[in-house]
Amino acid sequence: MHNAATAAGRPPPRLLAVSKTQPTEAVAALAAQGQRAFGENYVQEAVAKIEALAPLGLEWHLIGHLQSNKAELAAQRFDWVQSVDRPKLVAALAAHRPDTLAPLNVLVQVNIDDEDSKHGCTPDAVPALAAAIAAEPRLCLRGLMAIPAPWPDAARRQQAFERMHGLFAGLAARYPQVDTLSMGMSSDYPEAIAHGATMVRVGTALFGARPSPNKDPS
Ligand SMILES: *Cc1c(COP(=O)(O)O)cnc(C)c1O
Repeated sequence: MHNAATAAGRPPPRLLAVSKTQPTEAVAALAAQGQRAFGENYVQEAVAKIEALAPLGLEWHLIGHLQSNKAELAAQRFDWVQSVDRPKLVAALAAHRPDTLAPLNVLVQVNIDDEDSKHGCTPDAVPALAAAIAAEPRLCLRGLMAIPAPWPDAARRQQAFERMHGLFAGLAARYPQVDTLSMGMSSDYPEAIAHGATMVRVGTALFGARPSPNKDPS
């Protein structure tokens, strides 16, 4: 991460450790080395870890698809939700964020390569969704998240990262609180950093292969 950021002349991004399917002990071990922010895909699985590790004061990000019927629990337990991709979810998260907690940090997930297999809104839908989030006092619009397609062709991968960076720059110019462009995983984080990612989401490269490889991350 440091090398990629230095080469690009950018500040180092934040590291989100993606701990889906990893046991609580693995999260605790990484936390003991100073890692604070962890990403989870499944609300129920995450809540068990959040409760078990509550004394450590970690920061929890939901990065998986969020069903509306899980929005209440997500709004109560997470610090960030990176997978907001429709107005209904904005309303549900805002309605259920407890007043006793800081506003929920929210990223708009963009399906930047228009893949059928991925969630996320279209690039065209970003302005309206961002405005809806910014209008909610119980939510804090922090930026954008994407999972670009792993095209074999590097130029095609770079185009997706660049389009995300353009969308992000437009949003940051409009909303002063927007500071986060979440993109890049184990296989492509150096490229994502080169194209302006301010947060990378890394699982396998930190923890090794996931215990249950059959589970689809989305
Ligand atoms: C699983 C996952 C990651 C991490 O993937 P790795 O290849 O293990 O680094 C990042 N982002 C999302 C949305 C994921 O589901």
